[in-house]
Amino acid sequence: MDEQLIQAIVEQVLTQLNQSTTPTEALDQRIPIAVSARHVHLSLEHIEHLFGEGYTLTPKSELSQPRQFAAMEQVTIVGPKDAISNVRVLGPARDLTQVEVSLTDARKLGIHAPLRFSGDIQNSAPVTIVGPKGSIYLHEGCIVAASHIHMSPDDARRFNVTEGQSINVRAHSARPVIFTNVKIRVSERYRLEMHIDTDEGNAAFIQGSSYGEIISEEETNQPIPTIKKEASTPEQKKELVVYQKKVLTEQAVLKLTTPELLLPKKTIVTALAEDAARRKGITLVRQ
Ligand SMILES: [Zn+2]
Repeated sequence: MDEQLIQAIVEQVLTQLNQSTTPTEALDQRIPIAVSARHVHLSLEHIEHLFGEGYTLTPKSELSQPRQFAAMEQVTIVGPKDAISNVRVLGPARDLTQVEVSLTDARKLGIHAPLRFSGDIQNSAPVTIVGPKGSIYLHEGCIVAASHIHMSPDDARRFNVTEGQSINVRAHSARPVIFTNVKIRVSERYRLEMHIDTDEGNAAFIQGSSYGEIISEEETNQPIPTIKKEASTPEQKKELVVYQKKVLTEQAVLKLTTPELLLPKKTIVTALAEDAARRKGITLVRQ
């Protein structure tokens, strides 16, 4: 095994040990995070309008939620300022047509899309959809989708949450982010997955697969486990931060916002933690 791989494994194990729960319990609490790119849901009537009479969507790939699919079909969405082409249509057909974009997309299009949960499109933003055979102007239907978690009733019991509840999620990613006001959606049909949009995914630096965990309101406001200590010499005017856990892992370093961290003598520092500190320009000071 090469050195880097060993270091990565050690880091993983120590990160798990640093958490209050046991590794298996921690694994059980993981929620996969999926980043949804801009997309369009169409009604049967609008599918015919955009693609021609009697037209049906062609599935391209299955989505994680049962029976949902990304279609071969793409459309162009148009706002007062600009247009975005190659926007994926998701199937199957829905009762109401809905366009889901990121806030970055909305700005580009010049559309004031509100932050809404999927399906709640009353008084949302107007948008034009252009297909190969026609176009439609929607008076309402363009939204920025609010983050949410799909789960089965079994999962809801396991996480001790209910349909419609808003919770907080800490994303474990290269740039960890805590998402607040994440809505729980429970259905027999749902598979466990958190959905965020591309702006949120980029904020957390999520690339490929990632997961999050539900955290309590207190945890949301909790800083990393350190205490502040007055500088011992006059020239060190800044406050020093002393690390409080036995092992300093890469994960912990990534959460740090101070330029310097005091480490008690017995603190173990992983190789990846040292690398991360170097990258972030954080000085680790042995006591
Ligand atoms: Zn979703």
